[in-house]
Amino acid sequence: MRVKQLLDQLLPRHCVLCGLFSGCENLCPPCAAELPYNTCACAQCGLPLPAQPDKICGACLKKPPPWDETVAGLKYQFPVDRLVCRFKYNRNLACGQALGRILLEAIHNKSGPRPQAIVPVPLHRSRLFTRTFNQALMLAHQLSKPLEIPVHHALLIRTRRTRAQSGLDSSQRRKNVRGAFACHRHGLKHVAIVDDVMTTGRTLEECTRSLKRAGAESVTAWVAARAVYK
Ligand SMILES: [Zn+2]
Ligand SMILES: [Zn+2]
Repeated sequence: MRVKQLLDQLLPRHCVLCGLFSGCENLCPPCAAELPYNTCACAQCGLPLPAQPDKICGACLKKPPPWDETVAGLKYQFPVDRLVCRFKYNRNLACGQALGRILLEAIHNKSGPRPQAIVPVPLHRSRLFTRTFNQALMLAHQLSKPLEIPVHHALLIRTRRTRAQSGLDSSQRRKNVRGAFACHRHGLKHVAIVDDVMTTGRTLEECTRSLKRAGAESVTAWVAARAVYK
């Protein structure tokens, strides 16, 4: 396994989007340049804003989500949806690495205090069994080393199996995940919760409430991509 990892680092790569030679990166420079980066967004919910970054949008001023801050590397649009799908369902690790790297850069570009722990959105053990890996955990590990923040993968658990959120509307999503998570008591004040995509934010809402009930004062959402509604 070690030799394979070493070879992966040394062998030239091919861009995960266009297939052309991409040096030691997973994306070639033209494909990377054309991605829909979420550079100007509400600091709290992560939705794109027309004005300068690090402002709070009107919806958050009126009714803020339970989490305190969002960093989303990309907008969940073509071709990001393809990268996420191949990472999540086909276990394409190069796509996951590309997404993680962009998220890491977005985190580096943010000022302010860093969380003390990284917590991936958990899968229920039955889904973990069928899908064999948790994409949120993979992203969490990818961020952990360069940021020097530990992953607490067992802090948050999914207590019951829920339907997949895709295909459900916002209120169905809320019902679907209500009470689906539990959190062990912890002494962490500031936690980052990691997921591949934030769609309506219902899953992150539930996770945040669990983390805060167990003692967290501040929760930051780190997601590879943020769904954008018109
Ligand atoms: Zn390319
Ligand atoms: Zn907002």
